[in-house]
Amino acid sequence: MSARGTRQSPSGANDPDLPGAISGGAKLVGVIGWPVAHSLSPRLHGYWLRHHKIDGAYVPLAVRPEDFASVLKTLPRMGFAGVNVTLPHKESALAAVDTVDATAREIGAVNMIVATAEGRLDGRNTDAFGFIENLKHGAPEWEASVGPAVVLGAGGAARAVCRALADAGVPEIRIANRTIARARGIAEAVGANTVPWDERSAALDGAALLVNATNLGMEGKPSLELDLTSLPAGAVVNDIVYNPIETGMLKAAAARGNVVVDGLGMLLHQARPGFAAWFGTDPAVTEGLRAYVLRGLAGRG
Ligand code: NAP
Repeated sequence: MSARGTRQSPSGANDPDLPGAISGGAKLVGVIGWPVAHSLSPRLHGYWLRHHKIDGAYVPLAVRPEDFASVLKTLPRMGFAGVNVTLPHKESALAAVDTVDATAREIGAVNMIVATAEGRLDGRNTDAFGFIENLKHGAPEWEASVGPAVVLGAGGAARAVCRALADAGVPEIRIANRTIARARGIAEAVGANTVPWDERSAALDGAALLVNATNLGMEGKPSLELDLTSLPAGAVVNDIVYNPIETGMLKAAAARGNVVVDGLGMLLHQARPGFAAWFGTDPAVTEGLRAYVLRGLAGRG
């Protein structure tokens, strides 16, 4: 074998012959979930790591619920700079970290953790940020002040959506949810109104924004039954479900001329604060990234 064929970089990191290679000094981050194999986060962060030629790795960590708290505590001692937290651990993470920021506390879930140099675990939630950034990029003409928003759903994601809309200055938020008590809980926290689930279509009257934050319309779930007749033609329609990318609601809204925003961008944008905190670079959400993550979504089946 020629000298060239056996050549190795002393560290391996950023070797032009081995794009994406890491060294012994690589920074470590991961995503903890159970299961975790479906997570798109390793692909997403891996794209940015390679794009920015950072000596780091973002790995999937499949951790059972009963092991979550003890595994989390050991991560700083193993040199991890932090983790993302996904289902089913987002709520348990609230109690397992050392500090929780105001947004995560209000949303009731931690999805991003920074391990400090002192070994402390700082819990945060980046879903509200991801939602509003996606909306701003996907519908630049939308302005919070233009009118009411209708949010379907009252789970963890809806909580983040409503917090973001309230912070952005939306004058009226109408929350429709099958279980009205859950809608009331969010409404009290953000100063919104609630709408009985059966009246969700009528609640679209005069709305400037419609957001589906239920899991209806998602692959393997029932479809979302919604009559868009009352929705103004100028309203923006956003589905945070991203599998499929074009949900039934988005298809129907686009067909009647509404501006539509899909849910993949929320996933991409919510990852930015974590990457910036761990790796020191605020990464961009580009068409190249979106296409790369979409290929991962298609390959997931
Ligand atoms: P969750 O806490 O389990 O909430 C599920 C919501 O869907 C609840 O409001 C629930 O109503 C409603 N729902 C479920 N089945 C229903 C049915 N048959 N009829 C009427 N309503 C029904 O879930 P989540 O964490 O909030 O996530 C919701 C969706 O958002 C998921 O599809 C998730 O993939 C997506 N998401 C996307 C992003 C992103 O980055 N794009 C981020 C987070 C979540 P009840 O309260 O009555 O049960």
